[in-house]
Amino acid sequence: MRKIAILGSTGSIGTNAIQVVNSLDNYELFALSAHSKLQVLGEQVIANRPAFAVASDPETARKSTFPDVDETDFLIGHDHLETIASHPDVDVVLAAIVGAAGLRSTWAAIESGKQVALANKETLVVAGPLAMSLAKQRNATILPVDSEHSAIFQALNGENPKNIRKVILTASGGPFRNASMDELRCATVKSALNHPTWQMGPKITVDSATMMNKSLELIEARWLFDLPAEKIEVVIHPQSIVHSLVEFVDGSVMAQLSPPDMKLPILYALTYPDRSSGPTEKLDFREAFHLDFQPPDFEKFPALLLGSEVARNGGTTGAVLNAANEAAVAAFLNGQIGFLDITRACRDVLKQHDFDPSPTLDQLISMDLWARKEINKWIAA
Ligand code: NAD
Ligand code: MG
Repeated sequence: MRKIAILGSTGSIGTNAIQVVNSLDNYELFALSAHSKLQVLGEQVIANRPAFAVASDPETARKSTFPDVDETDFLIGHDHLETIASHPDVDVVLAAIVGAAGLRSTWAAIESGKQVALANKETLVVAGPLAMSLAKQRNATILPVDSEHSAIFQALNGENPKNIRKVILTASGGPFRNASMDELRCATVKSALNHPTWQMGPKITVDSATMMNKSLELIEARWLFDLPAEKIEVVIHPQSIVHSLVEFVDGSVMAQLSPPDMKLPILYALTYPDRSSGPTEKLDFREAFHLDFQPPDFEKFPALLLGSEVARNGGTTGAVLNAANEAAVAAFLNGQIGFLDITRACRDVLKQHDFDPSPTLDQLISMDLWARKEINKWIAA
């Protein structure tokens, strides 16, 4: 039996992952965690009887009651995310907490040499070089859950990385793919949360609307595959069936296709290097369908340019962009700023920051705090 810990089990990735694990014979849910949806965590505990359940927000935990399940120990507080991520009985950690809040627990999993199924792209955006070198040192395997990176990882299977000409990340274009500048200016929270192809948590859904998500993914790919920024491109593909492509030096392009369903990259990251049929939707080639590709519009979606800039410059830029974006998206969701302000605020804060080319983890964490404060000042100004 392979024992799985899911950090962030009540989210969009987390709930999909529970279905995937329950469909597999040799896998068992060992630990779950939730921040505020403790009612849902309670239901997950009753249904799955893990050894541990972590309620990471003590404030919410104090106001909640937990089910009495003999097999399960409830642990309260953010530090216990690290307890389960590094527990000696855990084989695979699925890092599915949203945002930089997932950094420390993902770090603990890498430090403990686990197989890490990584949905929390923010870990690589904030601290890519440090995380990748820690993984090497501790013999941890990082397997991408982000669908684009899972596609690239699969396309690179057995290939010599020196033969890569470029990787091409596909992007659905989000809900505003065909919107005019005027429509973007007036975009509401409701319309930004209405993604055409993917069902995801609110933060990444807004990131898809600004295309900041693709920016973060470009940075993720930069560190995960150790590729220079110049070799990473983005193409708009509205159907979300081709999950990304790799072009080799001879002009051959390898793609990975499937219906848009996160259960597949989760399944692949859990079962790698094997495969299992799992609860995933399959493509049906007996029905006609077509695949479209078009270049992105950098004027309408300038967030994309910030990703290339950060992938080129590295150092402290990833931590600043990520934190600025988290704070700006939260402000947009609270009605404090407009849709186009999200990218503008990120660009301004990135420009102002005190660049360091090779920061420590502690420096990155202080930069994260600094950037959030700067966004608050930007909003107040
Ligand atoms: P979500 O908002 O649906 O769920 C987030 C989870 O994190 C919840 O379980 C929540 O309890 C937990 N959480 C939130 N704040 C926390 C905090 N401060 N401390 C500890 N736990 C906290 O998010 P999601 O859409 O499932 O995304 C999770 C991660 O996966 C993100 O990094 C996202 O970029 C990545 N991802 C998601 C998708 C998708 O389809 N949803 C696709 C690719 C990558
Ligand atoms: Mg993705």
